[in-house]
Amino acid sequence: MQKVFMIKYAELNTKKDNIGMFLRILKQNIEEKTKDLAVITFDKGRMFLKIEESNFEKVLQILKKTFGIHEIEIGYELLNTEMNTIEQNLLEIVKEKDFHTFKVETKRSDKNYPLKSPEISKYLGGVILKNKEGIEVDVHHPDVTFYVEIRKDHAYIYSEKIKGLGGYPVGTLGKGLLMLSGGIDSPVAGYLTMKRGVKIEAIYFESPPHTSEEAKNKVLSLASIVSEYGSQIKVHVINFTKIQEEIYKNIPHEYLVTIMRRMMYRISEIIARHNRCKILINGESIGQVASQTLSSMAVINEVVRIPVIRPVACFDKLEIISLAKEIGTYETSILPYQDCCTIFVPEHPVINPEKEKCEEYEKLIPYEDLIREAIKNETVITNQTKKEFEDLL
Ligand code: ATP
Ligand code: MG
Repeated sequence: MQKVFMIKYAELNTKKDNIGMFLRILKQNIEEKTKDLAVITFDKGRMFLKIEESNFEKVLQILKKTFGIHEIEIGYELLNTEMNTIEQNLLEIVKEKDFHTFKVETKRSDKNYPLKSPEISKYLGGVILKNKEGIEVDVHHPDVTFYVEIRKDHAYIYSEKIKGLGGYPVGTLGKGLLMLSGGIDSPVAGYLTMKRGVKIEAIYFESPPHTSEEAKNKVLSLASIVSEYGSQIKVHVINFTKIQEEIYKNIPHEYLVTIMRRMMYRISEIIARHNRCKILINGESIGQVASQTLSSMAVINEVVRIPVIRPVACFDKLEIISLAKEIGTYETSILPYQDCCTIFVPEHPVINPEKEKCEEYEKLIPYEDLIREAIKNETVITNQTKKEFEDLL
């Protein structure tokens, strides 16, 4: 018996004309992560992954972190559809399972098969009853269901289904630039955007010596955790020290954060356009801090034309934390290394900033030159593994 994963696609079935592209990218994404551990084929609305028993767990863990999958069915492929073969293999699977009640459910896509689906289920149910002690049929709430699927030349048997992550395969909907800080919110925002099929690159603003190497490594480590749900995430690191110091020295402190964030947005938009990212993504959540009131968000957003997606805008903090725990970023996010925003936070940041004041204050610093210089000195980090970053923490 050949062990197989049978994949049911998530929302992809609604993508009539484009389904080919979605499936090609889903296949590519899986292949990129499984390398040569699985042989991938398609048949009638499903993807099949043939795997060696010894690679089973590894491939399963990868599939559980792949967007575009609705359900993973774990089973066996039989190389012919003869009842004798089905019976023998089914009994082998039954032998391994511990249960009291069961049912058999059959699907037959080969309509020329001599028996109809309910007849096959009934017959195989009888075979199981004869071969195992202390069990009975329960068609409503069985401990285990044995699914038998008969296709043209092959049959499949499976009894385990695992829910996939859903969403679209990463890369089917273009690319976005994630503003990634070391906090809890932005990695979750990145994850949620990837779930909609968007590939991401990340931008991180550092302010050495006010922020440490550890703070940067923490962000790189978060990028690599999130990248497990897609592919490598390129991280653009921007040295923000000079800009922050100029703002700090020259601008009334209640406007520090507003102006600083306007600068971050401006730089992010340029980096996004250079790298063919169509949107910016960040972890802003309405009302969470002074810079995330509606007035603040409006005045900050005003400096860019690129769309800004805020996936966690309407989540409360506990919801974000719960998702961060689920996706595996929380423990890294709460490591205590300071980010550039927390260092230059004034005691009383403005919560209703005015556009005119921002523009007046910004004239006090040569921000266009500073932005140009920061972008020129950008460093881009790729191909680091999560493990390497963790070792650095
Ligand atoms: P997070 O938990 O993601 O750090 P936060 O609640 O601390 O968010 P802010 O510090 O106001 O909120 O930042 C809001 C968003 O701005 C972040 O979610 C992130 O997308 C972006 N951001 C903040 N600081 C940085 C930074 N140093 N580099 C890149 N992006 C940043
Ligand atoms: Mg933050």
